[in-house]
Amino acid sequence: MSAYGSFSGFTAKFCRLNQIPPKQFREFWYASVEACYFGRKEGQIRHIARLLDEPLAVVRTVFGSTGMGWGHFSLGQRDSVWYGKLAYCPLCLFEGYHSHFHETRWLKQCPIHCVDLATEAVPQGPCARIDRETDKLAWLLDANAPGWIAADGG
Ligand SMILES: [Zn+2]
Repeated sequence: MSAYGSFSGFTAKFCRLNQIPPKQFREFWYASVEACYFGRKEGQIRHIARLLDEPLAVVRTVFGSTGMGWGHFSLGQRDSVWYGKLAYCPLCLFEGYHSHFHETRWLKQCPIHCVDLATEAVPQGPCARIDRETDKLAWLLDANAPGWIAADGG
């Protein structure tokens, strides 16, 4: 897990590593995280760090910085400007990295690389939007960052 990584990036990697579809990840996540610690953010963050065996300081940047701590997982937290699109930095993507700050509406350039952000349309379909976004991001990472699953990015 990388600091300030996006929830969709985390989800994509988790799904690949465990060879499960996004829907199954959501069921796992709900049962093992959301159902246990509803409304207690600090408890959730500590629980996630233990569950994933990741440093608390990093987990906090991924799950503790936006909204209720679920990044863009919660549909209501994403600005409607990005509805149906996935925003990313092409150079970060080459390194297997996607951050929630890349999807901030007012941000036009990557603060790390100072290049314009790119967007990719998320296909419509019967699956939940987060599932389609996760699949799209995984597809983009596959195409641009070979080895991204093994790397510590994303
Ligand atoms: Zn970048």
